[in-house]
Amino acid sequence: MAIVRTRVAPSPTGHMHIGTVRTGLFNYLFAKAHHGAFLLRIEDTDPVRSKPEYEAEILKGFKWLGLEFDEGPNLGGNYGPYRQSERLDLYREKTSWLLDNGLAYQCFCTEAELEKVKEKSAQQGLPPRYSGKCRTRSRDERLRLQNEGQPFTVRLIVPREDITFTDLIHGAVTTKAEVLDDFVIVRSDDTPLYNFTAVIDDHAMAITHVIRGEDHLSNTPKQIILYRALGWELPVFAHLPLLLNPDKSKMSKRFGDVELLRFRDEGYLSQALINFLAFLGWNPKTDREFFTLPELISAFHIEQVNKAGAIFNRAKLDYFNQHYVRALPLDRLIELSWPYLENAGLVAESTDRSMVGRVLTVVRDRIRTLSEVPSLTDFFFLLPAYDPALLTEKGSKATAKQSLEILLTFTEKEYPRDLTSLTDLLKLQPAALGISNGEFFWPTRVALAGKAQSPSTAEMMMALGNTETQTRLRVALSRLET
Ligand code: GLU
Repeated sequence: MAIVRTRVAPSPTGHMHIGTVRTGLFNYLFAKAHHGAFLLRIEDTDPVRSKPEYEAEILKGFKWLGLEFDEGPNLGGNYGPYRQSERLDLYREKTSWLLDNGLAYQCFCTEAELEKVKEKSAQQGLPPRYSGKCRTRSRDERLRLQNEGQPFTVRLIVPREDITFTDLIHGAVTTKAEVLDDFVIVRSDDTPLYNFTAVIDDHAMAITHVIRGEDHLSNTPKQIILYRALGWELPVFAHLPLLLNPDKSKMSKRFGDVELLRFRDEGYLSQALINFLAFLGWNPKTDREFFTLPELISAFHIEQVNKAGAIFNRAKLDYFNQHYVRALPLDRLIELSWPYLENAGLVAESTDRSMVGRVLTVVRDRIRTLSEVPSLTDFFFLLPAYDPALLTEKGSKATAKQSLEILLTFTEKEYPRDLTSLTDLLKLQPAALGISNGEFFWPTRVALAGKAQSPSTAEMMMALGNTETQTRLRVALSRLET
């Protein structure tokens, strides 16, 4: 059997879409499960809309996700070049071959003429089909019009027959002859069209499996007709279910980001995105949810991919991300959170990393995305300007003062520096002072966090460290006096 070769073939005409990532991932998983090759092809035949910065973004995006290509632009490989803009000669050669062999023809119909035909079909409730007018022109007539400088497109001669193919996910798919017409493969400005270039390149690059979004399902019969015209063997096709918004409409910006790098900037981890995206259209048929990339390679089977559209559920993505954030080694969590904290003005180069580590340890379980870290932790770095009345919300001035003072004495002597022992010690204090738990813990927590909702007194003390704890207790005591 031929070595499995798959490809992802994005057009660099906009920011990298999360759908491209899902397609890339499924191609990667399939190729790697079969010890095959995964390629990147850049479909940049549209010179106006294609931008090098979007191509760079695609490379950067896949690299960040850890989906490595075996071949692609700037990576080399035996089947290059991997940018369609560098393959134009090949497309021209195939166009000439099709024309010379009477399998395609020049069409001189003007836009206005074509529009008229379309309108007529619409009135009759028929699908818009090209009439075939130029197909019947004689060779001499075509030559004459060409020599006169009349602009022309190139159309493929499409046989009047139904096209059926077996899709790995959809099974047998049939397209009726009535909806197919002699479609354009080269525009009048000599630029080749997607269906044509995709077939030429998939063949030339020895692609064995074409795995792509379901939005291309209607292109596949046209591509099959081209394979047949060119006398080439078909690859295997698999069309992945569409990504949907929660209201089942096609995934769009309306429900949040669709650009990969926005997810990265929001603080989603690449492992979380990979794990989440793998489940968009596939599941392992077990309860297991968390998979590393190598584990996905072993578990993934393309035949298990669903036909039904896959809903992009952000809460689920957050759930995956939370899991992977919890699993990060502390050092890595500090490193990844640092830019967010720095941007928020909460840390600087001189900030003590170990303090940041202690703070992150306290809030780690609540982090869904790294961009939440500043709002979850700001009160550790800067004492909020709280209303002194907050200190006495669960007791009197006297009980608050007592509680703060006893805590201050701890910080002036030795006290346990592990959370469990410190928690145990603090638990003894209300009884020792003859006050309720609330009367003790409320004012001490408010003093340390400067707000009503916060981690426990012991957690705050652990994270702040001795000096900052003392400072905040003194501030609270002085506020009680006012
Ligand atoms: N350039 C096409 C796209 O981005 C590629 C489709 C295909 O995989 O054949 O949708």
